[in-house]
Amino acid sequence: MEKWRVYERIVALLSTEKYDDPSLTVIPNARVTGLISNRKRQIDVLIDYRFEHDLTRRMVIDAKERKRPIDIKEVESFEGLMKDVGAQRGVLVCTNGYTKAAKNRAQKHIGIEIIPAEEIDTFNFNSWDNCLHQKCEDGLVLWDRYFGVSIQDSPPYVMATGKCDVCHRFHIWCWSCGNRKVLGNEDEWQCSCKEPWFWLTAIEPEEDNTKSIYLLFCSASDIKIVDRIPL
Ligand SMILES: [Zn+2]
Ligand SMILES: [Zn+2]
Repeated sequence: MEKWRVYERIVALLSTEKYDDPSLTVIPNARVTGLISNRKRQIDVLIDYRFEHDLTRRMVIDAKERKRPIDIKEVESFEGLMKDVGAQRGVLVCTNGYTKAAKNRAQKHIGIEIIPAEEIDTFNFNSWDNCLHQKCEDGLVLWDRYFGVSIQDSPPYVMATGKCDVCHRFHIWCWSCGNRKVLGNEDEWQCSCKEPWFWLTAIEPEEDNTKSIYLLFCSASDIKIVDRIPL
């Protein structure tokens, strides 16, 4: 794996720990449609409201693995990306610091943090799984949510959900039987342990003409939105 790619993944993983809020979803290597450019923009880590399209909660993180300090130009182009995707806040994470002008230019809505390059060598990806989709190359699944269901007095059933950082497909991991499953964008799945619920994915239009893929948990009593990826 190339060094900058490892660095992006480290920043994504640390972001799931740092922004550990059940109402937020962390999407590594996201691709969302720019509101101004109308083009797909790549975002190293997108932090978005989990349950519906709400740009007031949107935050973008850019990982800059650089030999030199980041400068004012990089801050300006990052601010341009933030505007295009409607993010209110942004964080630039860099290996080798930043110039004073870059810091001044960043003002309040852009944070600059340093994670030194040495961390790249000490890091392991044990907590990530390979993407289960046959055609996805090199994708890793970041499990970012644990989901428990209780039926009457039985101990809760626990499932983990995550998404691949290359093809972005949702993954479900049933802890009762150990099954793991990748879901397509408009898909449906019931685990072979045959509990009385199933999972659905659906692409839904949002008010501003963008779309999201929703991951839904469906049982006899209700349908819950568990996760969302903006497109
Ligand atoms: Zn994948
Ligand atoms: Zn199962």
